[in-house]
Amino acid sequence: MMKKYFTYILLLGFPLLGAQNRSIENSGYQQNWTLLEKENEAMAFDADIKLSDAEIILDKKLFQLRNDFLDETKKKKVPIYNRSFNEIKPLIEDSKLFSLFQTMPKGGLLHTHSGGLADAKWVIEAARKYKECYVYDQEDTKEFIFGQMAFFENGKVPKGFVNLNQKLTSNPKFEKELTDLLILKRDNLCSYTDYWIEFEKRFQRINLLLPYRPFFKEYYLKGFQDLAKDKVQHVEIRYIFEELYDFQHGKYPLKTSITDLRDLVKEMHQSNPEFSLKLIYSSFKFFDKERIEKELETAIKLKKEFPDMISGFDLVADEAAGKSINFFQDNWVKLNELNKKYGVELPLFLHAGESNSVFNKNVLDIALLNNQRIGHGLNLIYFPKTMELIKKQDKLVEVSPISNQVLGYVSDLRNHPARVLMSNGIQCSISSDDPSVYGYNGLSYDFWVAFVYWELDVKALKKLVFNSINYSSLNKNEKKNAVEHLNKEWNDFIQQANKKLN
Ligand SMILES: [Zn+2]
Repeated sequence: MMKKYFTYILLLGFPLLGAQNRSIENSGYQQNWTLLEKENEAMAFDADIKLSDAEIILDKKLFQLRNDFLDETKKKKVPIYNRSFNEIKPLIEDSKLFSLFQTMPKGGLLHTHSGGLADAKWVIEAARKYKECYVYDQEDTKEFIFGQMAFFENGKVPKGFVNLNQKLTSNPKFEKELTDLLILKRDNLCSYTDYWIEFEKRFQRINLLLPYRPFFKEYYLKGFQDLAKDKVQHVEIRYIFEELYDFQHGKYPLKTSITDLRDLVKEMHQSNPEFSLKLIYSSFKFFDKERIEKELETAIKLKKEFPDMISGFDLVADEAAGKSINFFQDNWVKLNELNKKYGVELPLFLHAGESNSVFNKNVLDIALLNNQRIGHGLNLIYFPKTMELIKKQDKLVEVSPISNQVLGYVSDLRNHPARVLMSNGIQCSISSDDPSVYGYNGLSYDFWVAFVYWELDVKALKKLVFNSINYSSLNKNEKKNAVEHLNKEWNDFIQQANKKLN
């Protein structure tokens, strides 16, 4: 070090150093730098948030907590940036930050799916209580796959299915095996997995459980309770509609699932009076235009009958395998006619840009359609003009960091595209997509990941939380009440958190 210093003196001359400092001060360099820093901050998505004194105090404490956590992992030589969610999950759960995030009000969960909601272990426990529940324990066929569960009447059990409770009782190892078959883990960042194939198998294994009306009610109540416990006050589900049934009555009309869910929300109100739910009618990107036309009409009819429950329409599935949003342009044109015909508006909430490829141009359609929120929008950053439009149109991107890592779109979560979106002023909110399939509950994990890996502050957290209500499909009056409740909860949280971290 000393040797280097002497070389400088020899080269530059000692007396010159002072003069140089003076000229930098006078050049206005530092003022320009500070101005540029402010101008960058003013472009961010949370620039309008002004923190209270109490929030500023908490911000400093959270900053410190994160630093302490990172120092600790450094000391223990844990490479947390190059680990999968599954590998660091125990670390998250043991951290002070996590218990704090569990007490933070989250506002709304705007992006989750029917079938990805209630805890996988709970699903097995609840299903085995039905003596009519069976599990397929043979090798995969075209019709059924190993570990697929379903309800059957006595004497009508297809070949290959065995009673679930009997199987679990006679083979104690089977419970863990079945749980593993319901959860998709990215064990580490470098092993190869065909993520979407494995992902869809997880859904197939429980798909036949969900339309069975008694189980359906239990499943959603459990899902809602777990979310409320994690301080989520509003939920919007990308919902795949199918007829519910039981063995006494057979099939029920499509709308029974809506009225049942409405009853469950009422039940939730006993413990959580502010809890609210909206359903986004979801179909699949691999269907043809004729099928989508029918689905759009069904969705719009349901929305006309249940305007307080149905908010819009979406198409789901692996974007690399399904058809593009552009492929369905006739349907979108027709949708305008349908809106007029039925006198209701069915806005779109499309998954778009859940991809790393520039050849996937689904985000282009978003700016042209009546599409209020974007599911994922990972490759939006490669389409700057569209990004500009989406910002101008004030459309929100629903970001699901853990889902994006598990499904292989992002490895080191520091490099998540949402950081680029947020710093460019695109509105975002945090969602969990399919938490039960990824082996967790609630929204705290996703907030933890966003806070630690994206170096967020309280300002950004607050904006993300409030965005999830402000950009929800709650109607004007519902929104007003929801924001009021959230404000109160948020202020309580700031106060309690400051006390706890004294
Ligand atoms: Zn999704």
